[in-house]
Amino acid sequence: MAVVPAAGRGLRLGEVVPKAFVRLAGKTLLHRAVDLFEAAGGVGLVVLVVPAEMLDEVTEEFGEHAVVVAGGVERTHSVRIGLEAALASAPAPQYVLVHDAARALTPPQLVRDVVAALHDGAEAVVPVLPLTDTVKTVGSDGVVTGTPDRSTLRAVQTPQGFRVGVLRSAHAGELVATDDAGLVERIGVAVQTIVGDPLAFKITGPLDLRLAQMLLAQP
Ligand code: C5P
Repeated sequence: MAVVPAAGRGLRLGEVVPKAFVRLAGKTLLHRAVDLFEAAGGVGLVVLVVPAEMLDEVTEEFGEHAVVVAGGVERTHSVRIGLEAALASAPAPQYVLVHDAARALTPPQLVRDVVAALHDGAEAVVPVLPLTDTVKTVGSDGVVTGTPDRSTLRAVQTPQGFRVGVLRSAHAGELVATDDAGLVERIGVAVQTIVGDPLAFKITGPLDLRLAQMLLAQP
């Protein structure tokens, strides 16, 4: 099963509709997430976590293909709500994937790679890419406080995959993190990395949207 957090406002994108409802080549980011899991195959139930005001509209459009619920204040809350809805709707599956609707060009093969790593025994799996920029830590006064060794750093993508029990335990507390693996790490479970895909980039700002449009326009 898969949980798709799509309840963000997407303020950094500067569009009038919430980010998941922005259209790319005529199709919303949310629709693309539904298509992704269908194309990947073998995922089963999909839960779409959307802004409360979009609940009726999305249920009407995707209710036959997915469970649709209203999200929470932070991404973590939205995933927690989606996970509970998934567990209430599906006969306890072994694995759950969590995938940001904002990663609209994610290739189906990346979904299959995450699932394969779970089948191979990993308890938690994240796709990652090496960083090309050097990263600094910076204090509140704007002064650099450090330069982590870039060779040990990775940018993390979704879908992230988990044994259901692991994600449940990670979300049992009230902690908040920018990704689900961050919560899993805090309960001491090893998170396996696999090679990510540049096409799974997150559409955050106008430049990302432009890039996605251009990639889709290519013959
Ligand atoms: O804000 P960020 O870009 O990290 O959001 C990643 C994903 O989490 C997006 O798909 C967004 O819609 C979703 N999200 C959510 N509920 C929130 C905030 C973000 O489902 N409260």
